[in-house]
This record gives sequence, C-alpha cells and structure tokens, in this order.
Amino acid sequence: MQLACPRCLALNRIADRGPGDEPKCEACGAALLPAEAVALTADSFDRFIQHAGLPVLVEFWADGCGPCEMMAPIFDAIAAEMKGRVRFARLDAAAHPQVPMRHHLRGVPSLMLFSDGAEIARTTGAMEAHALRRWLASQGIQQAKVQ
Ligand code: ZN
Repeated sequence: MQLACPRCLALNRIADRGPGDEPKCEACGAALLPAEAVALTADSFDRFIQHAGLPVLVEFWADGCGPCEMMAPIFDAIAAEMKGRVRFARLDAAAHPQVPMRHHLRGVPSLMLFSDGAEIARTTGAMEAHALRRWLASQGIQQAKVQ
C-alpha cells in the first residue's frame, strides 16, 4: 500500500500494517495516519486523493458557516473512530473555491468520499455522528472493531 504523507505529500510504501502501527513519513516524519482530519488545499487535493492508499472522506467547509461549525467536532470524532480504515481530510471551500467548483459541489458543509482517486459518494448538509456512521456504513465502510 502506498500512502501520501498528509504534510509533504511524499509517497510512502507501507508493507504489512498491523493493529496499533503508527506509520511515519520517511521524508518528513509526520504521522501518515493521524487520528485527526488533515487540511488539504487546492495544491495538495488531487495528489492526496489519488495516492491516499485508503478511501478518503473530505469535508468541505467555510468560515462563518454555522452548520460547518456544528459538523467539525463530529467529523473529527468519527475520524478518530475510523483511523486506519478511512483517511479524513477537510478543505476550506472559500479559500480554495476551484476544488468544490470542479466537483460541482453545492453548499457547505459537504462530504465527498473517494476511493482510488474516484468519487464514490457525496452528501451535503450537517450530520450527527450516528447519521455519519450510518452513511459510511451504507458505502460499505464500517467502524473498526474495538480491540
Ligand atoms: Zn511527509
């Protein structure tokens, strides 16, 4: 599996990943699979999505958006739950409008789920944690079993 580093975008080849492994970037030392969502920009978006190695869920948000503020801590909590199964990222849609425009996104907050660089699902509007878990499950993504 190849994982793009969330900080420097270097591609890291990961062999067998066991439970509890915390792989680090060989180039910059950043955690490759942090428990929190990583911030993407217009420059890093495509490379990260295409070389994520795992499904990627991207939250599009904007400053001053009430539902986005409500959604952010929920998104972060689910990111921690799904660590190692799905990579969570977010993009400031106001600062990097070309990305949501290219994907014809309507409004924030919006979520897009990618696999191997291709969009597999999207949804717009804030979600509670249980709704987000259910939505991910409906895309075939289940929460990791607690060990
Ligand atoms: Zn790196």
